Amino acid sequence: MRAVLWNGTRDVRTETVPDPTIERPDDAVIRVTSSGLCGSDLHLYEVLGPFMTAGDILGHEPMGVVEEVGADVTSLVPGQRVVVPFQICCGHCPMCGSGLQTQCDNTRVQEQGMGASLYGYSSLYGSVPGAQAEYLRVRRAQDNAVPVPDEGPDDRYWYLSDVLPTAWQAVRYADVPQGGSVAVLGLGPIGEMACRVARYLGAEHVFGVDPVPERRARAAARGVEAFDSSTAPTISSRRSGAAPTGGGRTR
Ligand SMILES: [Zn+2]
Ligand SMILES: [Zn+2]
Repeated sequence: MRAVLWNGTRDVRTETVPDPTIERPDDAVIRVTSSGLCGSDLHLYEVLGPFMTAGDILGHEPMGVVEEVGADVTSLVPGQRVVVPFQICCGHCPMCGSGLQTQCDNTRVQEQGMGASLYGYSSLYGSVPGAQAEYLRVRRAQDNAVPVPDEGPDDRYWYLSDVLPTAWQAVRYADVPQGGSVAVLGLGPIGEMACRVARYLGAEHVFGVDPVPERRARAAARGVEAFDSSTAPTISSRRSGAAPTGGGRTR
């Protein structure tokens, strides 16, 4: 199959690699139909390079169609359409039972002091081959593949792999009261989804801040009050009491 491989710092290539196969009875293999490219992947591109190995397959936001299932997987059948969340959990340990699947006792990368294993995300998270590939071996597939309807485009569902739950969690943690206000810094996929979730959960005023005009326009079309961070006064000018002059870039 073709797959996106990390080969070194700032060196990512599409190459041909062996197709994944069923290796454990709780595995499934899916044919990937959509796979997200995440802002988090940029960390691997450079900063987290020391934790990568040449040949690692990137990607952690897939959806696709089940090709094959292991003997223990009774919840899926070949031909079924599924979204695969980026984290891998067991579904039955005390942490999973408490709704803390990102700290799953059975997939946690203990030697690195990290949480649950993730697809395509360095040795810090288990060195699990990722999903920017034609096929993916889904681990513990019974608990880590979400069946979705056959109808509709992939875009209708695949944000369930990362963008929607990540944004949802951020808004929940912010604990915005009904009728309250919230500001979201950055209107990329997660930020814009956080704006939508905040409105859905009852925030009265949602402010979005981003230097990119297209992002601000997209958010504004959904009722977000969007501000341009590239024209905001700098923090130092405020501290010094100087009048905002505009044009300063806040970092
Ligand atoms: Zn992601
Ligand atoms: Zn678990």
